[in-house]
Amino acid sequence: MKSVVGPFRRFRRLMVSNVYLLDGGPGDRWLVDSGHWSERWQLLSELRSTGLRPSELTGVLLTHRHSDHAGNAAFLQREHGVKVLCHRADAAVLDGSAPRFRLGGKGKPLERALGAFENAFPARLRVDRALEHGDTVAGLSVHLLPGHTEGSVFFLHESTGCLLTGDTLLTARPPLTLFGAVMPAYDAFSIDTRGAHEALDAFHAQGWHYEHVLAGHGSPMVGDARRRVIAGLEGERRRG
Ligand SMILES: [Zn+2]
Repeated sequence: MKSVVGPFRRFRRLMVSNVYLLDGGPGDRWLVDSGHWSERWQLLSELRSTGLRPSELTGVLLTHRHSDHAGNAAFLQREHGVKVLCHRADAAVLDGSAPRFRLGGKGKPLERALGAFENAFPARLRVDRALEHGDTVAGLSVHLLPGHTEGSVFFLHESTGCLLTGDTLLTARPPLTLFGAVMPAYDAFSIDTRGAHEALDAFHAQGWHYEHVLAGHGSPMVGDARRRVIAGLEGERRRG
């Protein structure tokens, strides 16, 4: 695991999506997202190599409900008693009380296939706590930016300036996320792409400050991130 900024560490063995450990010491250790279930072994082995047992995690905070982020949350909850938290709107889809929007109708063949895979093997669980916009948990403020999913959030750690963005703001280009780029929510995997982009613009218009971006996909962007993100989004828009 690699230190990023302050108490944030990044799991290095996970290829599909990012998982961050927010390590505030015993009783205050949180995962932000949990990775895809196909990378469970990597998640557990890397956790073990840092000297932590899964049961020593205080909780899992989900940026959103997609299986590449929420894929190990039910396992950690069931097998290790780890609490799972996410926004109320995504919690309702995860526990089946709200309908699940199907992906797979947009984009290139690979993107449609990835969407179909998500439809076939979605994450399912009952969260321990449903978060609301404006809540604070583990020193993170919760910001609802709906559009990628119903309940996608940013977590802002104001004391270090770290912004955890899930798939609403990426630092790599989908669908394979091999190359670095500043990208808003990606159309093929979002239920309301325009809404997600508008929510991101509104977040910036409200003046929220951040120094670093820890996105769901792509490398951490450390230092001067707000300016770099706004410039990157402008460039994306010009490219159309
Ligand atoms: Zn997603």
